[in-house]
Parts: sequence; structure tokens; C-alpha cells
Amino acid sequence: MKLIILDRDGVINFDSDAFIKSPEEWHPIPGSLEAIAKLNQAGFNVLVVSNQSGIARQYFDEAMLSLIHEKFQKLLAEKGGTVEAIFYCPHGPDDHCDCRKPKAGLFHQIEKQYQANLAGVFAVGDSWRDLEAAMTVHAQPVLVLTGKGEQTKAAHSQELLEKQIPIFNNLADFTQTLLSPQT
Ligand SMILES: [Mg+2]
Ligand SMILES: [Zn+2]
Repeated sequence: MKLIILDRDGVINFDSDAFIKSPEEWHPIPGSLEAIAKLNQAGFNVLVVSNQSGIARQYFDEAMLSLIHEKFQKLLAEKGGTVEAIFYCPHGPDDHCDCRKPKAGLFHQIEKQYQANLAGVFAVGDSWRDLEAAMTVHAQPVLVLTGKGEQTKAAHSQELLEKQIPIFNNLADFTQTLLSPQT
């Protein structure tokens, strides 16, 4: 099974400091849904891992999150794509759970559920905590500059360089490079 792991907010859809609290507030970043469809066509099973502390903060509940994800999956299906599963952390920063990134709990859930070793699996994120979580399970982190990506690049330039973390403008660019035939 060829897996690829994506953060949601700032990678697939536009992020908001006010949180994405309803389907109406969920808007895909141009090219991201098409990119997921292309990954599917190339044989990748796409998994989403997402911090959703808005649930702990009581900005929205899990039923609303399901509605948001229904919109996501419907729009994605229209582009011919599908995500295998969406793993999310509903906790807040003070809950001390083991699944809120930068903790790797969501990645461990994937390992368990898919009997998968995530070493070398691409994990695309826009925040440093996405990349940290990925590195904990030896996945291959990838930074995109959408969402908080520019901020992350500025704040962690040294570490990005040292760890040779690849940087792309957006998910579409990453996908295009990943899938273009090696010459
Ligand atoms: Mg994000
Ligand atoms: Zn959690």
C-alpha cells in the first residue's frame, strides 16, 4: 500500500485564525483537490492528519466536523479523488493528549490501523509541528508554503536546511514534482 499523509488546514484548504467551523468556511486551495486525484491515479492512498482543537474549544462539535469533511469529500469526488481516512485530534493544547501534533499519536494510529511502517512516507504540512510529528515516525516531511508555510519557513530556516526538508509552493507543485518521470 502506497501511503501519503497530508495535513488539512493550510495544505488542502485555506486556513483561518478564526478556525474552520462550518462547511461554508471550508474552501479548497486552488489545485489541491486535483493534486489528490492525481496522487490517487498514481496509486497513492491519501490519509489526512489534522489538529482540530476547535472541538475542545467548543467552536464546533464532531458532528459539524463530519459535515465539513462531507463537503471536502464531495468536492474531491467531483475532481475524481478520494481520501482513505481523516485522522484528527479533537483536543486542546492543555489536554496533554498524545495525538495533537507535534505529538505523533495520529501517525501511530495510522501505523496501527494500516499495519504500516511510515518510514519514508511523504507527510506534507504547512506548520513546523506537522513536520516534527512526521519526523518522529521517520516519515519524509515536506513543507508547503500555503497556510502557515511562509511563517514556518522563516522561523525554521536553519532546521529545514539541516534536515534537508523539501519545500514546495503548494500541494499541486509537490504532486507535480513527485509524479513527474525521473530523467
Ligand atoms: Mg496546517
Ligand atoms: Zn489529541
